[in-house]
Amino acid sequence: MSPTLTQLVAAASAGLSRNPDVAAAAPGRVNLIGEHIDYCDGFVMPFALDRYIVIAAVRNGSDIANVSSAGLADASISLHQPQEIREPKWANYLRGVIDGFQKIGYEIPGFDAHIASSVPGGAGLSSSAALECATATLLEGLLGVTLPKKQKALLCQHAEHAFAGVPCGIMDQFASTFGEENRLVMIDCQSGEPTLVPFENPALSVIIANTRVHHELSDGAYALRRQHTEQGLALLQKASWRDVCMADVESAWDQLGDPVNRRARHVVSEIARTRAAAEALAVDDFTALGELMYASHVSLRDDFEVSCRELDLMVDIASDIGPQGGVFGARMTGGGFGGSTVTLCETYRAGDIMEIMRTRYGQQTNIVPEIFCSRPSRGAHLIEFDLVSPNQSAR
Ligand code: ADP
Ligand code: MG
Repeated sequence: MSPTLTQLVAAASAGLSRNPDVAAAAPGRVNLIGEHIDYCDGFVMPFALDRYIVIAAVRNGSDIANVSSAGLADASISLHQPQEIREPKWANYLRGVIDGFQKIGYEIPGFDAHIASSVPGGAGLSSSAALECATATLLEGLLGVTLPKKQKALLCQHAEHAFAGVPCGIMDQFASTFGEENRLVMIDCQSGEPTLVPFENPALSVIIANTRVHHELSDGAYALRRQHTEQGLALLQKASWRDVCMADVESAWDQLGDPVNRRARHVVSEIARTRAAAEALAVDDFTALGELMYASHVSLRDDFEVSCRELDLMVDIASDIGPQGGVFGARMTGGGFGGSTVTLCETYRAGDIMEIMRTRYGQQTNIVPEIFCSRPSRGAHLIEFDLVSPNQSAR
């Protein structure tokens, strides 16, 4: 069983010398559909998981942030000088967020902090965005300020670009920031506006299956996919992928050349699928939604080439269970090259489905996957201590 939010707060607090002054939680995310198009002005449909990174902190009266996380080297971050990329690497996500606050003009007081997490790292569930958004929320608490959510999410995205070298789109930080219980965070990545879409039918469940593989090429390949999409748009002589239709891609097929033409076909078809998915969801047409998920996976596998054997296997196992076994659809989720799949299914069959996925995947790979159900949950927030423990003082 994964620890609850209350247990995570207790674990983060236990790493400090006294009761925390401030603690913040931010969730990972899963994307139902709309993959690799958040940096192409597309639509995406993630939700915030009930898996969190919690950071608890006490003020230390110095100008240094001392931060620890189980199993990782401790980090010491000087707060009264410009931030730079340093070891340990994991703390660069914090340095990037601190840098963002410093550039706005905030003077951050010194603190000791400890991190506890239930978001699997490197599993395509965006532990990196959870870490950034938890850090930003902690700094808000320490400073007694609240940034507009959009500004906060963009600051966190910038931290990932500048301090982790990952040119990610806006999906992960928006999902972690704007997430709410029983709501998807549908994002129009052209306008940068999120819309909360109801997702509360108790008959419908979402299974997340972490393949527990992470192929090393992922970082360079992500940047290369971005490059391909930028090249494609330039060759098509359009300002935005939203102005491109499939006929444009088909008529420019040879001029675009391989693989840019296939990358373009993915972007245009995935934008259309995500729009169709929103319509299917609005009328509870889960069969149509599931078919769109399968089609998304095929496009990511064949045209965008970001899947891998293990992701394909997990999707195939779900698809073999099929509608008669309660599965509507499945696809890889997140950046790819390993990580997780997302499967939409009937709630009353979810336990059986997870068991079959676990067994068959294990038999064929000798890897024990991590498989769980999650519902859309609350986004980044400060912890109200009086709700957690009578021993903790209210802020
Ligand atoms: P994903 O975002 O899909 O989980 P990334 O490679 O983008 O994968 O981010 C994972 C990185 O985030 C880890 O390598 C580590 O640097 C950082 N990270 C994730 N969880 C934690 C944690 N609990 N404590 C410290 N750093 C973490
Ligand atoms: Mg990440």
